Amino acid sequence: MNKAQAKHVSQAVHQPILSSKAKIAIIGGGVAGSTIALRFAELGLDTTLIEKGPSLVNGPPICHLHAGGNLYREICDQQCLTLLQQSIDTVKVYPHSVNIRPTLIALPKTDHGQPEDLLPRLEKLRARYAELVAQDPSNKVLGEPEHYFRFYARAELDALVDLPLPSVAKSDSDWLVAFAQNVDLDSIKFPVLLVQEYGLSAFRFAAITNLAIERLPSCHLQMSSQVIAITSQENTQHENALGWQVSTQQQQSQVIEHSHYDYVINACGFKSGEIDDMVSAKRQRMVEFKAAYVAHWSKCQGLWPEVVFYGERGTPQGMAQLTPYPDGYFQLHGMTQDITLFDQGLVASCQKSAQPKLAQRFIEKIDKHWPEQVVSNRTLGSIAHIAQFIPAFSSAEAAAKPLFGAQQIPGEDADLRAADVSFYGQHYARAEIVKASSALAAADAILANLVECGLVAELELGNYLTEHYFPISQQCSAAEVTEQAIALAKQRDYPIALAKNL
Ligand SMILES: Cc1cc2nc3c(=O)[nH]c(=O)nc-3n(C[C@H](O)[C@H](O)[C@H](O)COP(=O)(O)OP(=O)(O)OC[C@H]3O[C@@H](n4cnc5c(N)ncnc54)[C@H](O)[C@@H]3O)c2cc1C
Repeated sequence: MNKAQAKHVSQAVHQPILSSKAKIAIIGGGVAGSTIALRFAELGLDTTLIEKGPSLVNGPPICHLHAGGNLYREICDQQCLTLLQQSIDTVKVYPHSVNIRPTLIALPKTDHGQPEDLLPRLEKLRARYAELVAQDPSNKVLGEPEHYFRFYARAELDALVDLPLPSVAKSDSDWLVAFAQNVDLDSIKFPVLLVQEYGLSAFRFAAITNLAIERLPSCHLQMSSQVIAITSQENTQHENALGWQVSTQQQQSQVIEHSHYDYVINACGFKSGEIDDMVSAKRQRMVEFKAAYVAHWSKCQGLWPEVVFYGERGTPQGMAQLTPYPDGYFQLHGMTQDITLFDQGLVASCQKSAQPKLAQRFIEKIDKHWPEQVVSNRTLGSIAHIAQFIPAFSSAEAAAKPLFGAQQIPGEDADLRAADVSFYGQHYARAEIVKASSALAAADAILANLVECGLVAELELGNYLTEHYFPISQQCSAAEVTEQAIALAKQRDYPIALAKNL
């Protein structure tokens, strides 16, 4: 179906809720900007999404949903509870972007913590999940609340060592068989934890946003178009209200266009400070450059959950993470300075500029390419980091360029993981998500601000202020999402396995 046909079909079925004439610009088509664009255009708001790159959701990687924040021991319980709720909302809106498989968390014997230290927070998460399911049965997207987590003793894993490898999981313990048979069980503490933390596929997420935006008549997409200036402008349509002139330049062209908008949303990810500087908005934030690696383990057998070996961030014993994809492909993180983290990879903004300045070597990695030697050293380092615990994994091979990028962290706390939005003056919002699951919360908060500003009538919006109305996005079928996600993986030069569901 070509774009004209797609628009024709969607116009026939799409029922906009709002009649507002406000024109909204969203700068940046990453997870945040694309989600906000969908949320608004589904309601019928006149939304323009401006992205400087050639495709949507093509920023730093996304592989974990973070339904409970269990990958981070260091964050507070409240952030974990927030991420749980935001993840549930994300699964409900984007079901085909989720890889449904649990996460197995083990503490190495060298680790300072004990498995039972995790229990109080897990109990809070399980209770909150049960509460959310009781409030609304459609929240039950992570299985039965009482099965949200389970600890397994050494004897239970030993009992799995001689079992045949299951090819589909009929029970939670089926996810532990390959783990029991391949992990050096003497290197970890017991019990180990199985928790319903799922995967989130960046390629599938990108596919859904591409498909849905194309079908929404009130979303105007400006690809390969960079915002180079913004100036405050009096608005002729709304009394006492501000508007903005946004100047864009098409990539590889000198032509500059100026357009007027009533409301501007800065969703530029780690470049958000550049837009803040254009409107002289002060903001304290950090930017962190990180990378994950892609390996192929041809001898891989059986079902693999996400496997996480906890460790102290930034030390040689930093957390090791193995994220499974089909056909023996894995995405690897190692929270050491030689693998995922980088010396001076975390920088902060200053008084003069809201844009933290990453060293040139990072900008070159983002804008151009990585030196081959660095790719090879770091990918092999990530394989060796996992092989400390899974000796057979040492036969895995580098399978693609790294998945990498810089992300923003608003404020001064480098451990902040649950953040959504901030506002400056009138008619200007910043999406400041740290995790993809927070994108819907950012969209909701900005929608509420549009109501406060008088650009959207609360009465007309009704329940849709808090309820997620995504009829067109949710029409995308699993098969068309897979097809589009595979095309994106090929276009971006990554193995197509990363685009498929497990
Ligand atoms: C190694 C690594 C692993 C990660 N893993 C996960 C994970 O498992 N789960 C998770 O939830 N999160 C993860 N993250 C974080 C996640 O990737 C980011 O938080 C998320 O991508 C932020 O989305 P965003 O839309 O705010 O920004 P981005 O994805 O960076 O999007 C911003 C967009 O704005 C565009 N833009 C910038 N300036 C302009 C301009 N002037 N004009 C027009 N367009 C512009 C950019 O081209 C870009 O497309 C990870 C990050 C890294 C680095």
